[in-house]
Amino acid sequence: MISALMPTYSRADLAFERGEGAWLYTADGRRYLDFGAGIATSSLGHHNAHLIAAITEQAARVMHVSNLYRVPGAEKLAARFVAATFADSVFFCNSGAEANEGMVKMIRRAQYETGHPERYRVICFDGAFHGRTLAMLAATNNEKYLKGFGPVVDGFDHVPFNNLNALRAAIGPQTAGIVIEPVQGEGGIRPAQLQFLRDLRSTCDEFGLILGMDEVQCGMGRTGKLFAHEWAGIAPDVMSIAKGIAGGFPMGAILATEAVAKWLVPGTHGTTFGGNPLACAAANAVLDVVLAPGFLAEVDRRARVLWRALEGLVAEYPSVFEEARGAGLILGLKCAVPAGEVQAAFTAEGLLSVTAGENVVRLVPPLVITDADIADAVEMMRRGARRCLPSQAQVAAK
Ligand SMILES: *Cc1c(COP(=O)(O)O)cnc(C)c1O
Repeated sequence: MISALMPTYSRADLAFERGEGAWLYTADGRRYLDFGAGIATSSLGHHNAHLIAAITEQAARVMHVSNLYRVPGAEKLAARFVAATFADSVFFCNSGAEANEGMVKMIRRAQYETGHPERYRVICFDGAFHGRTLAMLAATNNEKYLKGFGPVVDGFDHVPFNNLNALRAAIGPQTAGIVIEPVQGEGGIRPAQLQFLRDLRSTCDEFGLILGMDEVQCGMGRTGKLFAHEWAGIAPDVMSIAKGIAGGFPMGAILATEAVAKWLVPGTHGTTFGGNPLACAAANAVLDVVLAPGFLAEVDRRARVLWRALEGLVAEYPSVFEEARGAGLILGLKCAVPAGEVQAAFTAEGLLSVTAGENVVRLVPPLVITDADIADAVEMMRRGARRCLPSQAQVAAK
């Protein structure tokens, strides 16, 4: 018989009762070091006092009023994003997929309004993940996710990641823009080459295309800069964000330049919940922490410590780990044995992680992990790797 909770996930048999920093605790007192962070979402870890205070204070005042009225917290949050990024204007919504849908609508509408109604197609990349709505399934173009959900929404073309010639060859008279994850998350923690991002910027300028970035997973401080594209020294025209932006409270946003955003006049786009006072209080609290002087530099420092340790593990256990990959605190271990087995071994040692494409175990801890957390995680990974040594597995099988 089907479970009451629809069986769309094969869940680990773990239920967490509370958390503290990077640690989660089950009701029977077992503790796990959370290097999955709810899929790169619990950016401030668990039980963050500042975030809790912001949410409880706002919940006691007013949680939701709709976008028919002014929301001071949303106005403040938008102004902070505008001050800290390339963007001139921000639209708040509730998830990554919803942000990406809005981003594609903005790309199409801006081309339409500037004399190019024929330009509606968006070029995306092999290995991308943009979400589970019908249009974002088409943008993602993963056979596994599309099966049985046809017909596929029209308007998306795909080219290999990090391949400028293929990208340029795919541009046609109907191309409106390009959407890229600066670091592919679900696809296997694959960073775009910084030069490729710069080339995308100049190619968009050359052909009059709109450059969109999906920073749903890699943004909001995770790479050690507020947004990952900053490492390339370029800016998109429009960007989607979500996951970590409200520390685990559901929220998404679209950040855009005036040239792209100005066509979304009243009636063109909307959301009931998006940017409500409660979500904005949570996101403002996250920004208080992430934008505090020195915080991003500290994320960068922690990431380098973890990176060096991962390189050490790869050298120590080459029959288990093929390579370390990623940027900042969006890291992955490409495995030589099935990544699911490595993830299970890590869990058995008390470390939570997430698998990703290309047989990768993904490590996306809270941005606030301590050096002691990193040392603990590395020891758990070392013990987990020993569980996965091919020779030992063969011995155990006998
Ligand atoms: C998770 C993710 C999404 C989808 O976000 P949802 O909130 O699950 O809709 C889109 N893009 C990227 C890069 C993601 O990692």
